[in-house]
Amino acid sequence: MIRSPPRLQPIPPSSIYTNDISSSRLAVRCAVPAVYPTKAEIMRQKIGILGATGMVGQRFIQLLENHPWFEVAWLAASDRSSGKPYGEAVRWKLDTPLPARIAAMPVSPAPEGAPRVIFAALDADIARDMEPKFAAAGCAVISNSSAFRMQQDVPLVIPEVNADHLPLLENQSWRKQSGGYIVTNPNCSAIGLVLALKPLVERFGVEAIFVSTMQAVSGAGYPGVPSLDIMGNVIPFIKNEEEKMQEETLKLLGRLSGRAVEPLPAKMTAHCNRVAVEDGHTESVSIKLGKKASREDLIAAWTEFAPLAGKDLPTAPAQPIEYVSADDRPQPRLDRMRGAGMAATVGRLRPCSLLDWKFTVLSHNTIRGAAGAALLNAEMLVSLGKLDPVAVPA
Ligand code: NAP
Repeated sequence: MIRSPPRLQPIPPSSIYTNDISSSRLAVRCAVPAVYPTKAEIMRQKIGILGATGMVGQRFIQLLENHPWFEVAWLAASDRSSGKPYGEAVRWKLDTPLPARIAAMPVSPAPEGAPRVIFAALDADIARDMEPKFAAAGCAVISNSSAFRMQQDVPLVIPEVNADHLPLLENQSWRKQSGGYIVTNPNCSAIGLVLALKPLVERFGVEAIFVSTMQAVSGAGYPGVPSLDIMGNVIPFIKNEEEKMQEETLKLLGRLSGRAVEPLPAKMTAHCNRVAVEDGHTESVSIKLGKKASREDLIAAWTEFAPLAGKDLPTAPAQPIEYVSADDRPQPRLDRMRGAGMAATVGRLRPCSLLDWKFTVLSHNTIRGAAGAALLNAEMLVSLGKLDPVAVPA
């Protein structure tokens, strides 16, 4: 059941940082504001960030600064951080300044005072316990963790690839009881691969996939991999990563059938490696296609791929897949920020003597692979009228 179209409430400046929507409505009726809201303020919906001090949480704050639709109104992390001002609790690791307003905000003990829309960036073990509590309390939980990605009634979504899986959220018990739900984005290495594969699946079919990753250290969170383990080194093991990549890729490229997703019927194997790169996951891919295609056919499939064109989602890149023809690209340092970190870069397309074709794909792991992915999911939910949960957690 589709609930209703997006309802972005007018919020006067005086109440932008409170959670009390009824008082903000009152203020709209009864008070003449001293300063009239800008167009951006009128549209903004308050959101909270769970796990706000981590690598992904920090990216959320960076990407949400000046976001036209969403306003950060609540931050939560572990007991280590709660009660402190955010600027004191966080070890800010990004190359843009921590916004002063956010630095001064208190880190709340979850779920106290949480708004209705939550971007979650928690470790899977903690998410497994905490995210259902928020969903049961009526929150839309837009999650980065792996805890519920493979649950049958939880959409695992990349908007350019499988927005048509989002109706699964209507089957969730939380949705029926309180209006809340959980929607997830994939593992940071699955996302670049799936973007590159989707147009090929659509045009030619894909029957077999071999992928070997070179994953950045920021993918392990903060403080992540000890420097003495990774400097000058490659670690050919990331716990549970190969399994996640394989199952998530096939679910993302699968077909919604009734109340479940039928995974793409392709063979797949993944090798996952951690390398001494700060940001950006690079992947070497070989594929077997369902029908013959030329080099030009493949490149056209990638460069013409624009499924969100005309939807005006603020975080969607104009070109989700950029093909580069130089022999030595893509490279993480040079290409990870294409499309403001939201594009996957594909290059080195050549015939494969084992399967049909091989190529390299690169994507930014904390932007396209995490916070940017969740943000785009939330924007897609707004455009479908589903970012409209009904209750507030106690
Ligand atoms: P991280 O840097 O280790 O951050 C973890 C966050 O969770 C911190 O804010 C931490 O707060 C908070 N936290 C820990 N225990 C908590 C508790 N009991 N209650 C509330 N908050 C708690 O991890 P990350 O890299 O941001 O990853 C977060 C999630 O996103 C993980 O599930 C990860 O697999 C997924 N993900 C990460 C990436 C990536 O590239 N990094 C990509 C895709 C998905 P304190 O600072 O107070 O300890």
